[in-house]
Amino acid sequence: MRVHNFCAGPCTLPLEVLEEVRDELVDFRGSGMSLIEMSHRSPEYEAVHEEALSLFRSVFVVPADRTILFLQGGATLQFALVPINLLGEGQRAAYVRSGTWGKGALKDAAAWGDAYAAWDGEPVGFTRMPQAHELEIRTDTRYLHVTSNETIEGIRMASFPDPGVPLVGDLSSEYVSRPIPWERFDVVYGGAQKNLGPAGLAVVVVRTDLLERVRTDLPSYLRYDAHAAKDSLMNTPPMFAIYVMGKVLRWIEGLGGVEAMAERAERRSGAVYDAIETSEGFYRSPVDAADRSHMNVVFRTPSDDLDAAFVKEAEGGGLVNLKGHRSVGGIRASIYNAMTDEGVDALVGFMGTFRDANG
Ligand SMILES: *Cc1c(COP(=O)(O)O)cnc(C)c1O
Repeated sequence: MRVHNFCAGPCTLPLEVLEEVRDELVDFRGSGMSLIEMSHRSPEYEAVHEEALSLFRSVFVVPADRTILFLQGGATLQFALVPINLLGEGQRAAYVRSGTWGKGALKDAAAWGDAYAAWDGEPVGFTRMPQAHELEIRTDTRYLHVTSNETIEGIRMASFPDPGVPLVGDLSSEYVSRPIPWERFDVVYGGAQKNLGPAGLAVVVVRTDLLERVRTDLPSYLRYDAHAAKDSLMNTPPMFAIYVMGKVLRWIEGLGGVEAMAERAERRSGAVYDAIETSEGFYRSPVDAADRSHMNVVFRTPSDDLDAAFVKEAEGGGLVNLKGHRSVGGIRASIYNAMTDEGVDALVGFMGTFRDANG
């Protein structure tokens, strides 16, 4: 029996996709071997690769003047590759220090070059995102890095800033779940494992004209332009993750694409926030209402003991991975693209039952 898996990442995937993968795993489309046993230069794999690239572009509505890269090293390697590729002599990088991931991105950028916090959410306990007028952009700033959704703290940028410098976005936990204003972004990146597929793949979208200006005095894997020149086949790509992501993108396309995912996320997270708001104080969200994540709903009961009991009893009912991140505690329900409506309904139902029994 499959459970309702609210894991923050890697995430639940569509059952249809898993079943297709199972059916193709041993003998890929009559080739007599598995895709994961093939050369990445084989025509079979090349077709899978090209299809995943073109689906990512069409489903996420990526403009024609952007290059899509399939890389390894997760979103974490991009914390380094963004400043390494983009920062020139005398330039610095601004970061919104909005939570665990924004903090991590700034730390890695500062290990490489001149990087600073344009806003710091730590004094407010990472419970909200900055307002536009709170961002302090210094001279010679090459880009402003934003984390669209802080996966651990459960906060999201309801709209993206327009600070007068290009944006770089870590979209990991909202990838292909919300439309974005592409014209403001030089680079968008994210790991696939939160919304789009298995771990091992990061997708990076770079403005193509920048590739002529990025640093080239670097080892090859670190160079965006080198990956772009080979269509992300400079070395062996994470073939299995790309293949599964292609199927997930096809599934998203069938449901109506990124706009449909955004509506679905708003509706489903809204159902859980409603259950919190109508619980007469039994459940609480620590997050400012305007910045509540549509993907990672973070909440608490009246006590740590009840939080633990909630997680344990939910598990008994087939609702798993609801424990908050170890750094913040509480409860977190990650409702990514592939979470089913039944899973969300079951969670809301369980929240009511648990409150009635313990309130
Ligand atoms: C999970 C996550 C990361 C780290 O991703 P990896 O692929 O594990 O490196 C970075 N940023 C955000 C917003 C995340 O949710």
